[in-house]
Amino acid sequence: MTRILHRTIGADLPRAVAGQGVYITDAGGRSFIDGSGGAAVSCLGHGHAEVLEAMRAQMDAIAYAHTSFFTTPALESLADRLVALTPPGLDYVYPVSGGSEAVEAALKMARQYFVEIGQPQRRHIIARRQSYHGNTIGALATGGNALRRAQFQPILPETHHVSPCYAYRDQQVGETPEAYAARLADELDAKIRDLGEDRVMAFVAEPVVGATLGAVGPVADYFRRIRAVCDRYGVLLILDEVMCGMGRTGSLFAFEQEGIVPDLVTIAKGLGGGYQPIGAVMLSDCIYRAFAEGSGLFQHGHTYIGHPVAAAAADKVVEIISRPGMMDHVRAMGDRLQAGLDAALGQSPHVGDIRGRGLFRGIELVADKDSKTPFDPALKIHARVKAEAMARGLLCYPAGGTIDGRRGDHVLLAPPYIVAPGEIDMIVERLRDAIGAAVKGV
Ligand code: PMP
Repeated sequence: MTRILHRTIGADLPRAVAGQGVYITDAGGRSFIDGSGGAAVSCLGHGHAEVLEAMRAQMDAIAYAHTSFFTTPALESLADRLVALTPPGLDYVYPVSGGSEAVEAALKMARQYFVEIGQPQRRHIIARRQSYHGNTIGALATGGNALRRAQFQPILPETHHVSPCYAYRDQQVGETPEAYAARLADELDAKIRDLGEDRVMAFVAEPVVGATLGAVGPVADYFRRIRAVCDRYGVLLILDEVMCGMGRTGSLFAFEQEGIVPDLVTIAKGLGGGYQPIGAVMLSDCIYRAFAEGSGLFQHGHTYIGHPVAAAAADKVVEIISRPGMMDHVRAMGDRLQAGLDAALGQSPHVGDIRGRGLFRGIELVADKDSKTPFDPALKIHARVKAEAMARGLLCYPAGGTIDGRRGDHVLLAPPYIVAPGEIDMIVERLRDAIGAAVKGV
């Protein structure tokens, strides 16, 4: 009997004992192709020799130094590298140890920024329904996932939510993408006015929505209009790229494809590629200067921020991701994955939508394709797909149940960027068979 408190109590999980490339092996000798990189984490696959070497060298030099006493060459190199790779406007890096921590830090930065510049009345956070931004109290409050929030609701700080950009379900018949984007931007505009034009501190959104919607990107113009609304009222735009960032969608940041730059962006997962727990907030020069010229202190911090071994791992991961050809490969493999899924599953009466960008793809499963009627949540189709996929040696990331009062099942694919064409085809075949088995007879 295990003494681990698993998320699903008593879950009988295989024991992972080895990982190499896109494969994980369990104690029974079974091999799994890592079609989701865990939860879009393992962007360079497992056992990457260069990352391991960078970590080893750092451990030999010094494994830990507290950031109130020291900086390290690894952390400085990581920050310089990230800033050099990021569009102008995001010029500083605040290191943390994961995605939820990044979101918490970004929220506190936004709040402190307004205190520093003499607008302490700004306190409201607006995010989107059906979103997930982490499990700590502030991040959970920001997310609009009703199921995850339900029992914690009484202890969550007040937040506000508007509609997500979810064209498959919410773009009306006959409505152009531009009109849909304008409608959503107007909704945000109205929400800000409702709360008080000078009372809102931040709008938080995930550019390509991962865990709660399944690789749903924005329609054209959406983020340009959202940026304009935020600018109109002096609201900070926080983009959560914990899942979709670090090259996952075919550019280092997903927002680069939208022609805008946020005030703050959160990253994690692919930043450390699973080799170490690490995240970061990248912030604008304007926010940095408000702190520097104001109190001279960011009133926040954790013991393990900027951990040297994590910084060394992330510095190497980002260096590898940014090598010439890497993003071309992500886009090419992403196109192959989309084409393969379209061919294998596009005609299925239970596959409503196949979407995504780069190596970030989602499949929405429905009881009826024409009416887009979701499956009964009691059927737990997403959990069945996961089990059937694992039985076939495939790891995919399922989500479903009741999300913000709406039902839905989807499967997320996020394979490592080093995936080969034949492995993409293998993922498609195994997923096709797993979905076929999961929906059989329902
Ligand atoms: N934001 C997003 C968009 C995420 O997908 C996640 C994790 N799934 C988080 C935040 C939280 O990250 P972590 O689990 O590392 O705390």
